[in-house]
Order: sequence, then C-alpha cells, then structure tokens
Amino acid sequence: MGTVIALANQKGGVGKTTTSVNLGACLADLGKKVLLIDSDAQGNATSGVGVHKNEIEKDVYDVLVNEYPLKKTIIATTHEGLDLVPATIQLSGAEIELTSQMARESRLLDALKPIKEQYDYILIDCPPSLGLLTINAFCASDSILIPVQSEYYALEGLSQLMNTIKLVQKHFNPSLALEGVLMTMLDVRTNLGTQVVAEVQKFFKNKVYQTIIPRNVRLSEAPSYGMAIVDYDPASRGAKEYRALAKEVLANHGE
Ligand code: ADP
Ligand code: MG
Repeated sequence: MGTVIALANQKGGVGKTTTSVNLGACLADLGKKVLLIDSDAQGNATSGVGVHKNEIEKDVYDVLVNEYPLKKTIIATTHEGLDLVPATIQLSGAEIELTSQMARESRLLDALKPIKEQYDYILIDCPPSLGLLTINAFCASDSILIPVQSEYYALEGLSQLMNTIKLVQKHFNPSLALEGVLMTMLDVRTNLGTQVVAEVQKFFKNKVYQTIIPRNVRLSEAPSYGMAIVDYDPASRGAKEYRALAKEVLANHGE
C-alpha cells in the first residue's frame, strides 16, 4: 500500500490542482487515507483545502531543501481522511537552492519513506514546469496522472513530458508508470472539445480515463471557500465526475 501518484503537466491551468484536491477528497470519501502534497509555490492546493498561511510553520520547502521531517509538516484538513503537506511562496527558491545539493532528485522520495505506509494514496500536485520539483515528484512516485485540458493544442508539450518521464525511468525510477490521462474542462456545448478528446484517446489509447471532467463553474468557485467540490456543492456535475474518477482510479488498482 501507500501508492504515490504525481499529478503533472508542465502547462499551467490544465486542472492539476483542481484534480489533486478533488480526487484526494473523493478517495478519502471512499474510505482511503489520503495525503496531498502541495509542490507548487503558488500554494493553490494548500488554500484549496482550506489551510491558511498563518497555520503553516514548516512546509514542503523545508522538507526538500533542509531535510526537515515530512511527518512534522503534515496538517489535517477539515475533510475527513485527507491530510496535507503545505507549500508556501518560499518554495519558489527551492529549484535553485537544490541545484547545488547532493541527492537533489531524491529528496522527496527519501522524505516519504518513513510515512508512506500510513497512507493508502499520496497525491503530489506538481508545479507547471519540468524542473527539479517535478523531477523529485517523479522519483518519489509509483505513477503519473496527467490532466489534459480539452482544448486546441491539448497535445502540445505532452511529448516533452513523456520524454522527461522516460529520462526519470532510465536514471532514477525504472518502475515509474503512467497512471492515466484525464481530460479536463470539457465544454460540452462545442464540437471542438469532443474532437480533442478523440485526438488524445488516439494517442494515449486505454490510458485515458472514461471519466471526463466538464467545465463547471462550481469547480472554479470551490477553492475560494477552501473546500473540495464534494463539500462545496455535492450535487454539482463537477462533484459527480470527480467521484466517478476516484472510483475509476481505485478500480485500476484492483480495489
Ligand atoms: P493547474 O493546477 O494545472 O494550473 P488548476 O487546477 O489550478 O490548474 O485550474 C486552473 C483554473 O481553472 C483554476 O482557476 C480552476 O479553479 C479552474 N478550473 C479547473 N478545472 C475546472 C473545471 N473543470 N471547470 C471550471 N473551472 C476549472
Ligand atoms: Mg496548480
């Protein structure tokens, strides 16, 4: 147990954070113990689960750069079963500071070892880049979940992402797998979105989840209340689809 999944795509605004928070909350609702690691200096996953800056003493920066024990940074969220390792703006310095350090790629992997078995799922919300933070997430993970926005140019940049995954497999983490590709923000009123979904399915085949996340305004409102969609508006389309995604993820793990 203790499956670690990185949510990654170097493109910003594709739904990494929204998926990390809401998949995390939905897995918790299915009885799983979930740890969400915010690895983006924007701290959107942190505020998205209702954790405020003034509650944070140490964050993922201290874990990565100063080898501070990850266990001591964990904050329980108001959503039952969902814990958080927070990020603050100080993480923006981490990539540069890590560059000159030993074992810079495996800091998160090493930090997770002592607590991994206390969780069923550990989700890492990656920043919109393929730098050392994302590499740390890939080295620490069993698999990668790639959210893809159902828009024109959806496939752009994905070959670069797949290359980075191959490099990490070759040099650091041979068993790193592709967890799945999630189509997000589908506008059901247009043909374009549906065409893009077909194009991505052609490329990634059965790795694309059956569940597709629609564009849903409730999903974009929930973070400003520090709530997962299932708490903010349990009856919304967004909540329904993230619940379906959680079930699909568990089914893929034989659960
Ligand atoms: P990333 O983490 O990849 O940068 P986010 O998850 O932060 O992307 O999403 C970018 C923006 O789009 C955020 O403002 C978020 O609230 C909004 N958003 C994400 N998914 C949806 C959706 N399915 N429908 C509507 N808005 C969404
Ligand atoms: Mg994000």
